[in-house]
Amino acid sequence: MALIDLFTRRPAAPAAPAEDPAPRAWPEIGETWKPEGLPVAERYYNQAHAVVLVASTGQDPYGTTYYLVACLGCHFLSTRTKYLDSHIRYSLGKAAETANAHAGTCRALPRELPARPEESAARHLLYSWVLAMPRRRDPHQYTDIDLSDFDSGRLELQRTNEWIQTELTALTIEQSDLLTARPDEHTGTVRFRILPQPH
Ligand SMILES: [Zn+2]
Repeated sequence: MALIDLFTRRPAAPAAPAEDPAPRAWPEIGETWKPEGLPVAERYYNQAHAVVLVASTGQDPYGTTYYLVACLGCHFLSTRTKYLDSHIRYSLGKAAETANAHAGTCRALPRELPARPEESAARHLLYSWVLAMPRRRDPHQYTDIDLSDFDSGRLELQRTNEWIQTELTALTIEQSDLLTARPDEHTGTVRFRILPQPH
């Protein structure tokens, strides 16, 4: 008897009872993710199906809305676009262009979504950014800051503009030799100023 017959003659094994295959954990790519304080306006997909987000960082006092672009595959994050000789905040159209261009070339696999920090960790982050700000400019001068100066940290912070404003206001009371607040007579908003720090 040819060896092959052994196999062909063997009675068919009864079909295994149909079981639901164990649900495979599907990587969370950010398709439905709603990071706090960053309303997502558009989503693009990179070459490995990671999401590239276009999210709003807020409005200026005149009602213009601004955006950032963030890739949830690689660490690409952009809050400003070059315009003539300066860098300006993104309009929706420009942000979409940048996101689309990035998505077309990025091959990074989806990575873990950034976790929302606890309240104390979020405060600490904001505080550390305030302290770092004069070092990036002139430490001997006043440094006027705006909520938009924190744009590049928004994905990490995951808090609203109102939260940032409230925390900065609290900081002007706790650390009055570091930060002051004053109303802007033109826009009716509050402006924050970091005072020169002794060495
Ligand atoms: Zn990317």
